[in-house]
Amino acid sequence: MALATGRGGYARVVSSFALAASLLATFSAGLQAQTARITAYEGARLIDGKGGAPVENAVVVVDGAKILAAGPSASVAVPAGAARVNLAGKTMMPMIIDAHVHLSQSRDGIVRDLKRRAWFGVSAVMSAGTDKYENLDLRAKVEPGSATFKSAGRGITMPEPGRITVPHWINNEAEGRKAVEDLAANKVDIVKVWVDNRDGQFKKVTPEIYTAIIDEAHKRGLRVMAHIFDQEDGKGLIKAGVDILAHGIRDRDIDDEMVAVFKSRPNVVLTPNLPERGVKVDMSWMKAGLPADEFAKLEAQNVDSPKLAAFHAIQARNLAKLNAAGVKIALATDGNRPWGPHDEMEDMVLAGMTPMQVLLASTRNSAAAMDLKDQGTIEAGKSADLLVLDGNPLDDIKNTRRISAVVLRGEAVDRTKAP
Ligand SMILES: [Zn+2]
Repeated sequence: MALATGRGGYARVVSSFALAASLLATFSAGLQAQTARITAYEGARLIDGKGGAPVENAVVVVDGAKILAAGPSASVAVPAGAARVNLAGKTMMPMIIDAHVHLSQSRDGIVRDLKRRAWFGVSAVMSAGTDKYENLDLRAKVEPGSATFKSAGRGITMPEPGRITVPHWINNEAEGRKAVEDLAANKVDIVKVWVDNRDGQFKKVTPEIYTAIIDEAHKRGLRVMAHIFDQEDGKGLIKAGVDILAHGIRDRDIDDEMVAVFKSRPNVVLTPNLPERGVKVDMSWMKAGLPADEFAKLEAQNVDSPKLAAFHAIQARNLAKLNAAGVKIALATDGNRPWGPHDEMEDMVLAGMTPMQVLLASTRNSAAAMDLKDQGTIEAGKSADLLVLDGNPLDDIKNTRRISAVVLRGEAVDRTKAP
C-alpha cells in the first residue's frame, strides 16, 4: 500500500503562493504551510498502546513528525485541508521498541541496522554494551526512515578474553566505579553489566562489585541493566537496586522468593529475551526483508532441537509466573536481528502472556524502559510512529508481521525494497 501523504496539501501550498503574493499574508501562508503538514489516518482499528480496548474506526491526526490527536472518528476533528489516508480494514498500533540489541561495530553497519529496524516496524532500539564510544555521535544523526537508538556504550564485565573485547573489563569495586565514571563522561544512556560466568569459563562480577556499580551509576543519574543467567544473581541484583534485568532466569524454575523479590521492587523491568523455541518455524514471512544468503543461512539453522526447547521451556515458565505476579515486562531480543521482535512477541504469547500484554510490553513498556518519552503510544504530542497492519494482532500476534505500512516520525517508510 502506498501512503501518498500530504500531496493534496502540497498543491494547496503552491497555489497559496499566488494568493499570498497579492494579500499580505505571511500569516495566512504560515497557516497554509501548517495545514499542508497535517495528515489524517482514518478508519483503522487503533491499538494506542495505553492499555485500553482497541478503538474501531479511529482517526490519528499527524502534524509533521508529531501526533496531534488520536481517537474515535466520532470525537476527533480532522482539520480542514488535511491530507487524508483511508485505512479502513487495517489495524494501527505504535511502532515496536526493542530494549536490548547489539548493533554493528561499523558506522555503515549501524546506519543499515537502523534502516532495517524501521522496515520491520521497529522505531527504536537500545544497544546494550558493545558500542565503541566513537560511534555514539550517530545517536544524534539518525536518518529519515531509520529507527532511533540509545546505547550503553561499553558495558562492564569481568575479563572475558576471546569472547568480547569492547566492554570495560574490571576486577574489583574500584575498577567498577571507574568504569561507570568513564561511561558517564561519554554520555551513555544506561549502564550495562554482565553477571554471568559463561558456563564456568570466566569469573563472574560479584555482588560486592555489582552493588558498587549500581551505586555509582545511580549517583550519576544513570540506570543499570544487568545481563543475568542464575536466579541467585537475579535476586541479588534486584536487592542491590538494579533497574532492568536483561534476560529472564535461565538456570532453573524460579522459586517463591524470586517472585517476592520482584514484587518488593515494582519498578524493576524484566526483559525476558526468550531464546529460540527449539522447533522448526515458518520463516517465509520475513523472506522479503532479508538478503537471500542471510535468509538461506537462517533457514538452514531452522530445525527442531530438544535441547534448545528444554532451555526455552524453563524461561517460558518463569516468564508466565512473573507475568502473573504483575512484574513489569518489556520486549527485548538481544543480538542484531531486525525481525526478532516479531518472533519474540509470538514466543511471549506462547509462554502465557495475552496478546495485549505483549503489545504493551513491546511499545509503552519498552519505551519507558529506554526512557523514550515521545514514543511507545499513539496519543497527542508523541512522535508519529505508526505501524499499520493487515490483520489484528489481538486475534493472532503473528499479525504484527503483516505490515501494510510504516509511518516513522510522520513520514511513510519506503518498504518496496528491504534495506
Ligand atoms: Zn545482550
